[in-house]
Amino acid sequence: MTQGNKGLVKSRKVIKKIHAEFVSDGAGVKLRRSIGLENMSYLDPFLLLDAFGSDRADDYIAGFPEHPHRGFETVTYMIAGRMRHKDSNGSEGVLLPGGVQWMTAGRGIVHSEMPEQAQGEMRGFQLWVNLPAHKKMMSPRYQNLNPESISELNIGNNSKVRVIAGEVGNTKGAITGIFTEPIFLDIHGQTGCEFSPIIPENHACFVYVYEKFVTVAGQVIEEHELAVLDEGNRVRIEFKKRAKCILVAAKPLMEPVSRFGPFVMNTKQEINQAIIDFNSGEFLS
Ligand code: MN
Repeated sequence: MTQGNKGLVKSRKVIKKIHAEFVSDGAGVKLRRSIGLENMSYLDPFLLLDAFGSDRADDYIAGFPEHPHRGFETVTYMIAGRMRHKDSNGSEGVLLPGGVQWMTAGRGIVHSEMPEQAQGEMRGFQLWVNLPAHKKMMSPRYQNLNPESISELNIGNNSKVRVIAGEVGNTKGAITGIFTEPIFLDIHGQTGCEFSPIIPENHACFVYVYEKFVTVAGQVIEEHELAVLDEGNRVRIEFKKRAKCILVAAKPLMEPVSRFGPFVMNTKQEINQAIIDFNSGEFLS
């Protein structure tokens, strides 16, 4: 697989490892957070990464009742379980296992994200991706994908990659038109599998292992550990055992970040305006 990049291969290396920490969010949902805490509050353009996963309803049943967002995108990738999404503009749907919702909050939405089940396993990710200054006040936009619309690529050894966004070889992700040109891969590897996707050289890139352990650029990354990679055009991933991880990459924005809970803007003044607009019902129109 070549990319016409004059044959120069620069393999990325692991520069930081983050162990996800348990946090509670929404109305009391138990989560593992890696990006968005003190030791890595921002991995430009990624603002937050939560892994949720439990077969105890108590850990997720309270869900995420009505709350606002402005200035960024929330990406929900379901692995198991069903989640109902509903917003103030009348958009509603159920996220199914293997499905994804890429929501561009833009100038603002108020929505709820609630489990569509009272028992059984609920597992998945929520990633927050920042928007550039000139897109922060755009109209909200959704891309909702059913599990069957996500392309899967066979990578040998009975292993596969679900391509949610971006391009691997000739396989294109169904999520399109996102400013930061994201790549979002869910990699299911079997023992002996090796996979080295090409990633645009200057994209920020991480791998998060959610089942067993994976060797990334020669380093073992444990379950619920996130590896941050340096710049380069390839990431070497090896599976010594059957395991699963996501690989996510996107173009950094290199802009100032001012954040307050569910509002992410460039300045404190814009955050104050977001609070005023939310309180005056501006997000509901
Ligand atoms: Mn939300």
